[in-house]
Amino acid sequence: KKITIAIDGHSSTGKSTAAKQLAKKLNYIYVDTGAMYRAVSYFVLQNRLIENGQVKENELTDHLEDIKIRFENNPDSKNADVYLNNVNIEKEIRTLEVSNIVSRVAEISAVRKKLVQQQQAMGVEKGIVMDGRDIGSVVFPDAELKVFMTAAPEVRATRRYDELIERGDDITFDEVLKNVLERDRIDSSREDSPLIQTEDALLLDTSKMSREAQLEQLEQWARE
Ligand code: C5P
Repeated sequence: KKITIAIDGHSSTGKSTAAKQLAKKLNYIYVDTGAMYRAVSYFVLQNRLIENGQVKENELTDHLEDIKIRFENNPDSKNADVYLNNVNIEKEIRTLEVSNIVSRVAEISAVRKKLVQQQQAMGVEKGIVMDGRDIGSVVFPDAELKVFMTAAPEVRATRRYDELIERGDDITFDEVLKNVLERDRIDSSREDSPLIQTEDALLLDTSKMSREAQLEQLEQWARE
């Protein structure tokens, strides 16, 4: 029987990679909700809806209807790419520039409301793995399996740093570490749907786990 799987946790814990692999293994749909918040953030940058680190909340709220986000399978990577108004922005949303504002954008209630609605619509049929910060708490409170992923900050920053360097980004380890910690701080302390480990979520600390070991654990839980 197919189920709904909610994977939440801190930034750069390997959530997306693990969730993606799990979905593939189970033949489920995978949805990266962080990509949706990143897509809105990219829109904010494109339309200059941010000034001195302050998102122009009213203007953004007025523009929400102009923001159409969808996922489409990429035959090359065999993953789903995110599209903003019919433009593939999968690569653009992974920059530190977007990472540095996304948690501010994600604080805005109107943004969350819009994206949560869309996420719930994507999950009406079982057989879905969704990863984010509020999936087990808000999007799918009745999910059959909830996982909360974490790892030591240095481990997380190292993983993210290696990814960005591989892409050719010009950044330092300290910038990445600072961003990871700052996003966790904002995500955990915001008023609307803060990042929390719900009581019914299983904790997965990936500090000392290989990707294979993570997948094995998740698969075991999913099949229980
Ligand atoms: O998962 P990822 O690190 O790409 O998410 C980027 C940011 O989007 C998070 O740091 C968080 O601020 C926000 N987010 C959120 N709720 C979600 C997914 C992401 O607030 N469900």
